[in-house]
Amino acid sequence: MISAGAEPTIALPKPRVSPESTVALPISRESSPAPEPTIALPIPPRAALQSTSEPTVGLPPVPAPRSAPTVTPPPAEPTIALPAGPPVVPSKSVTRRRLLWAIPAVGGTALIGGTIAALAGRGEPEATGKAPNLVVSEPPPSQSPAPAPTTPKPTTPVIKVPVHTLRDFRKVVPGDPFPTDAIALTIDDGPHPVWTPKILRLLEKHHVPALFCMIGNQVLGHESTARDVAADGHQIANHTWSHPIKLAKLPPHVMLKEIHRAQDKIYSTTGQAPNLFRSPGGAWSNGLAESVSKSGVIPMDWTTDPRDWARPGVAHITNRLLAAKPGQILLCHDGGGDRSQTLASLKTVIPALQAKGLKFVALM
Ligand SMILES: [Zn+2]
Repeated sequence: MISAGAEPTIALPKPRVSPESTVALPISRESSPAPEPTIALPIPPRAALQSTSEPTVGLPPVPAPRSAPTVTPPPAEPTIALPAGPPVVPSKSVTRRRLLWAIPAVGGTALIGGTIAALAGRGEPEATGKAPNLVVSEPPPSQSPAPAPTTPKPTTPVIKVPVHTLRDFRKVVPGDPFPTDAIALTIDDGPHPVWTPKILRLLEKHHVPALFCMIGNQVLGHESTARDVAADGHQIANHTWSHPIKLAKLPPHVMLKEIHRAQDKIYSTTGQAPNLFRSPGGAWSNGLAESVSKSGVIPMDWTTDPRDWARPGVAHITNRLLAAKPGQILLCHDGGGDRSQTLASLKTVIPALQAKGLKFVALM
């Protein structure tokens, strides 16, 4: 196991930062969002993702390849002297961040060596094939294909308004349009050894797919339950490592650690690398949006919150969920305490909504 801190790094010129042209994040709220919020997807230049307002936050730790052989750092002896010339600017297709995130996926050294060669070549307009000051060693071939990184490439652009509805979701995750009578169920705060299996049996009975937003430190110790969720065909989202309710106000490096630690645990346990992220309590900030983007996951909220986590009574939860409309994303919980009210409600609500013609869909 290679620790993230031991990953070889490559210093490239900092891309120029241009001012962000993004919309402000709405004030965070604890419960139901306004109906039919719109989602603004600014398309800033890629370099704008590197904000100068966070100079101490470096790049997110590159997830360590899980079963890869020891990564050999680039050999130290050959001197790579880049000839003087115009500043080397990463091309559009290989930005600094994309390069670093790509390293674990392609075995690391090969890409580093190749990129150095490519960058060096840019400053050698009259290259004759034997540049005197430029010695670039041939990188050793990759030993074997490295596993996919647990965290996908950063999302671009930064999504500052999280997904609330199926229509929002389809704007940021390409795919066929959802049926007009579609609805989605999301289940947070597990896995739980008591409640998750009961909910899984209910979902199986009614052929309902769901998104389980898992907390990393709940996966820890309940690995078989987490694997059962994946084995039943459900999706898993990243819901942080420790569910800090003030995540949106924490320093960026803490946000990143919360996201990445959960991502690693979920991936190593279930084989699923989540591409969706739900913030505890649905609290967001510009800083969290940036950290989420850097982590390559999509910010997810919900449309309908029956507040089942507060155990308001089965009737309350049931009535709120029965009022769901097509295109909405429902929020329920399988962890964080006694979820008997949630389970009892879902036993009524799922068949009732299906009887009204609604179809539960997977968020993919
Ligand atoms: Zn939660």
